[in-house]
Amino acid sequence: MDIKDLERKYRITADYHTHTVYSRVGPYYHGKGRIIDNVRAASERGLSELAITDHGPSDFYGLDPKRIPEMRKDIEEAMRAYPDVKVLLGVEADIVDSDNGLDVAASDFSKFDFVNAGYHYVPNCNMIGNFASFHAPISEKAKAKLRKENTKRIVKAIKSNRINILTHPGDKAYINEEEVAAACEQTGTLVEINARHKHPNAEDLKIYEAYDVKFVISSDAHKPEHVGRYAESLALAFEAGISADRIINIEERKDG
Ligand SMILES: [Zn+2]
Ligand SMILES: [Zn+2]
Repeated sequence: MDIKDLERKYRITADYHTHTVYSRVGPYYHGKGRIIDNVRAASERGLSELAITDHGPSDFYGLDPKRIPEMRKDIEEAMRAYPDVKVLLGVEADIVDSDNGLDVAASDFSKFDFVNAGYHYVPNCNMIGNFASFHAPISEKAKAKLRKENTKRIVKAIKSNRINILTHPGDKAYINEEEVAAACEQTGTLVEINARHKHPNAEDLKIYEAYDVKFVISSDAHKPEHVGRYAESLALAFEAGISADRIINIEERKDG
């Protein structure tokens, strides 16, 4: 099925991974739209739920926890303007070296309605050495060592917290997909399919498919125009043999 056919046959019902201007560093906005812009886009695309998930505070352009009340206010305003969309205040926490393996402390989870976790190049992640290694050739032995270390950290983050979605697993760092999939299965953590990144690719997803996990498609939108994008990710899911009924936010169009 090509992308157009996929769009005709299936729709996305919710998008649980989007960024806004609250992901910023100084004058640089990593996310381009305001909360209300993402919500308007979600409404136009017929989504019933949307999560605002700006980057965790340790990210270069991570959200400032002091601004959470402001984010809540923006969400309330947006929901008044677009009552057809339920908006959740979330975060895309970073997997770092900390007690619970994230840059959002366990005690701060209650500040959010939805917690995603992903690995990015941030200070204190202790996987920083990977940046060069992931983008330049290294020996199989060195790769195996990194894979082991990274997997340990990601599994720790999954098992120490109630994470909703593990975002783009395997992107930016070598991991052992079997072990990560087993941890997601054990904890009920959703595995993200996100065509915006190189990983997980179809080969990676085939590994997750063999475990009893559920999947979610995210736009990972950094601008409102991208909110609710799903067709490329759905194509990737089908390429990996994942059936639509295992993806929690995809349904067949009744009119399709
Ligand atoms: Zn991410
Ligand atoms: Zn993201």
